[in-house]
Amino acid sequence: MKVLRTAAEMRALRDELRGQPLTVGLVPTMGYLHQGHDSLLAAARAECDVVVMSLFVNPTQFRPGEDLSTYPRDEERDFAIAEATGVDYVYAPQPDDVYPSGFATKVEVEGLTEVLCGSETSRGPGHFRGVTTIVAKLLNAVDPDFAYFGQKDAQQATVIRRMAEDLEFRAKIVVLPTVREPDGLAMSSRNAYLSPQARERATAIWASLQETEAVFAEAGLEPALEAGRRHLELAGITPEYFEARYPGTLDPADGRSGDPILVAVAAKVDGTRLIDNILLEPEHEGSTP
Ligand code: AMP
Repeated sequence: MKVLRTAAEMRALRDELRGQPLTVGLVPTMGYLHQGHDSLLAAARAECDVVVMSLFVNPTQFRPGEDLSTYPRDEERDFAIAEATGVDYVYAPQPDDVYPSGFATKVEVEGLTEVLCGSETSRGPGHFRGVTTIVAKLLNAVDPDFAYFGQKDAQQATVIRRMAEDLEFRAKIVVLPTVREPDGLAMSSRNAYLSPQARERATAIWASLQETEAVFAEAGLEPALEAGRRHLELAGITPEYFEARYPGTLDPADGRSGDPILVAVAAKVDGTRLIDNILLEPEHEGSTP
């Protein structure tokens, strides 16, 4: 496995690969790898000739006051995991190389980025501007055939699909299911922040979504959302949002069309912001993402 530290090295690799009949898979990450990342890397390894993982804690997707400076990092461990999963190249640039002085371009997907995590009461639309700008840069730099993302960040996946389509990126965007701890908590680099007590309480997030799914099958959407929100409340968790939306448009869902419904939640547990979601399939009750 080779580590590339600069955009120039990445460009040289891309030029070298372009002349060869090889498929390239890109897995963008902010590091501190867990089994969620590993599932994306393994899928890329299975489907592509060359696997590139990017490792970059992207400063522009953090709001002032968020956890940019404390975001967990362990590059050596990440390299070891990536190598064990069969990654060929890690692209781990420095912020100054990604955003040199004079950098002035932002990629913005309208509409989809102003709700849920993009609302002013959550991370704000600037969060997704940061995400789409870095992912556009990575898609340009690596020029992959396939790029892999997790359903855990469902809104991010929707936004990136839209961007890739609108800007005619060549890469096929692949979105893979959420990987969970045995007790259901969605794996996240931020789980490392949780005290044992907070870790225990955080299990209420996935449990509340499962409760939502169970009630949805019996009683429909509104009672299901109420049940999910109540479950969180009883665990002492006040969500930033707990909402039903159609997954492709992120329009509010009323459950009347029979289309799948995304129920997405964000909540702080003892100061650690966690997100999760579930896809409700009106015709195929009981399925989970
Ligand atoms: P991050 O390093 O948190 O920016 O995540 C990098 C990629 O891994 C994103 O596409 C995430 O959606 C995906 N990811 C993070 N957590 C999980 C998980 N528990 N299961 C599946 N994919 C995940």
